[in-house]
Amino acid sequence: MALLQISEPGQSTAPHRHNLACGIDLGTTNSLVASVMSGETKLLPDTNGDSMLPSVVHCGINGMSAGVEALAFATSDPVNTISSIKRFMGISFNEAQSIKNLPYDLVDQDGGAVFKTAMGELSAIEISARILSSLKRRAEDALGDELKGAVITVPAYFNDAQRQSTKDAAKLAGINVLRLLNEPTAAAIAYGLESKEEGIHAVYDLGGGTFDISILSFNRGVFEVLSTGGDSSLGGDDFDNLIFEDCVKSLNLKDLSASQIQVIRQLSKSAKERLSVSDSAEFKLVDQHYKITQSQFEVLSEQLVKRTIQITKRALRDAEINASDVKEVIMVGGSTRMNIIRERASDVFGKPVLCSINPDEVVAKGAAIQANILAGNKSKDDVLLLDVLPLSLGLETMGGLVEKVIHRNTTIPITRAQEFTTYKDGQTGMGIHVYQGERELTKDCRSLGRFELKGIPPMVAGRARILVEFQVDADGLLSVSAQEESSGVKSEIEIKPSFGLSNKGMEKMLKDSVVFAQEDIVLRQLQEQRVDATRTIEAIDAALEADQSLLDEEMLASIKGARQSLFLLVDSEDAAIIKEATLELENVSAKFVEMRMNKSIMSAMKGHRIDEFNEQL
Ligand code: ADP
Ligand code: MG
Repeated sequence: MALLQISEPGQSTAPHRHNLACGIDLGTTNSLVASVMSGETKLLPDTNGDSMLPSVVHCGINGMSAGVEALAFATSDPVNTISSIKRFMGISFNEAQSIKNLPYDLVDQDGGAVFKTAMGELSAIEISARILSSLKRRAEDALGDELKGAVITVPAYFNDAQRQSTKDAAKLAGINVLRLLNEPTAAAIAYGLESKEEGIHAVYDLGGGTFDISILSFNRGVFEVLSTGGDSSLGGDDFDNLIFEDCVKSLNLKDLSASQIQVIRQLSKSAKERLSVSDSAEFKLVDQHYKITQSQFEVLSEQLVKRTIQITKRALRDAEINASDVKEVIMVGGSTRMNIIRERASDVFGKPVLCSINPDEVVAKGAAIQANILAGNKSKDDVLLLDVLPLSLGLETMGGLVEKVIHRNTTIPITRAQEFTTYKDGQTGMGIHVYQGERELTKDCRSLGRFELKGIPPMVAGRARILVEFQVDADGLLSVSAQEESSGVKSEIEIKPSFGLSNKGMEKMLKDSVVFAQEDIVLRQLQEQRVDATRTIEAIDAALEADQSLLDEEMLASIKGARQSLFLLVDSEDAAIIKEATLELENVSAKFVEMRMNKSIMSAMKGHRIDEFNEQL
């Protein structure tokens, strides 16, 4: 006989309420939704039992459809059947137009791209929202109630505009976004919790349209992202394209219509997928026949594979580790089923790669685990997730230099403060100009925004203490504040660091910082020397204006002479020469400075009794 449970007076007998939450892998090619149910992470399939929803939306005269239903229109109505919508999220019209082989009709709307469809003009956000609402409905049907929220994954290299667009799409679909999560991080959650492996792991994610590599360390239940790298326009589609182009060339096909292109594209894709399990693949095109062997395909793929390997090696360098330090290499994304990818990835790391969790499902599963925690069903301490800053943040100092306040790859959230001071006597305002990038000069970095700190009490140059604080929250949003310490005057702004910065832009900034590193250091030294020289000249000029009468003719002449030589050298390209001339001016003026100091002490004491000064001491 079962025992009855009796609660203590005052204690609730109400069962713990489980908040329904899910994880969504909003992929370029396929999207999935998963949820933690009774402690188990499960993919939520559609009524046919398929867990993968093709990320395709058909916008026809009879309305919108998504998934397999939409995919059916890909050949008959290609202009209105939008696939790979993720590539269009948060990018400009010009960027959208540079995507190759598109059958769509794109229109420029205030610099952004909209699709001209049978349903009218639609934005990427609206189209993506249709995929999300399909997944939401699927989840609510499977879970039996309304969702409290979802964790949606995005590529690690998605910039702020792309992340914001994803959030907007979710909002439009009526989904409460608990958090956006980087895809490789989600995969690591799925693996980390299941295997409990400690050490450094690499997540190699090659999907349909994006490539992401993350180097993570997992220690005592804590994941830390050591570095990330990627390319938002490199994925399985590009491998399809290799076969597509090879087919068009070898069969000498010309004047193809949009729907013919679509047909060959689909045939190329399935040929590619067959090559992962057999030595050759072929297909028929009316009266022509195309065949490709696995080794031919590997030759064609060489460049693309190499690109992923280069990016992988750079991420290892960024994490300051050797490939051999990596304990496990997690393979994510359908394209990691290609033999050449697995081989090359294991070559780089010198060990077999890990694919024990289905590479298509691992991201959605990790997102579901995170969603379950964020929805309040588990303690937040279960997984502590740390993300990193993709680019350094800093501010402009004199001479157009950037002083980095938070370095790239620092884990976020983070708060870091640095002290700055005034440049001129009596300076009451200070422009705070925030930059993002790895280079030394402002002109080579990206301006994120600027604000003014006003009301600094007038003081001698270098006396004011201005504390500038950079704060980056868990979502990567930056706020900067500046405060003058003695008066407490404060000013602040909130900035979205990567807004509008395309992936290409980010990569270029990183590449340039390596290429120009040496040159930058020389330039920085030169700029600093120039600033120093100018400051010395200005100080001497001010002193001469006030106290020239203290000097005899000889001293005056030597100071003026040294000042003039420095003045003529300030713009020279040689930091050492400027430094020498600056020191010379400081030397010949040393006596003068001392005389002025004595004079000001004397005048300060005038009219006071000596004991007043003692009292103050
Ligand atoms: P995404 O994350 O971009 O949505 P997925 O992880 O679902 O992408 O991967 C989709 C890609 O995986 C497509 O390019 C598809 O052709 C490719 N793919 C799926 N299965 C295989 C296979 N067996 N061999 C090679 N590529 C495959
Ligand atoms: Mg994916």
